[in-house]
Amino acid sequence: MICPICKKPADNSAANRFRPFCSERCQMVDLGTWAGEGYRVPGAKLPDRDHPDDRRKKLLN
Ligand SMILES: [Zn+2]
Repeated sequence: MICPICKKPADNSAANRFRPFCSERCQMVDLGTWAGEGYRVPGAKLPDRDHPDDRRKKLLN
C-alpha cells in the first residue's frame, strides 16, 4: 500500500503500528493537518507561537 502522506510504499502488516502511514512521522503530519484546520477560527486570535502550517512544511521537507 502507499502512504497517503509521502506517497511512498508503506508496510501493511501488523508490524506497522502506524498504518495506513509508513511511519510515525507521517502519522503525526496527518494529525497535524486536521488539527491545523481546527485552529482556523475566523476572528480568533492565535498565540504568537510556531504556526501549524510552518511546522507541517518542515515535517514534509
Ligand atoms: Zn509516509
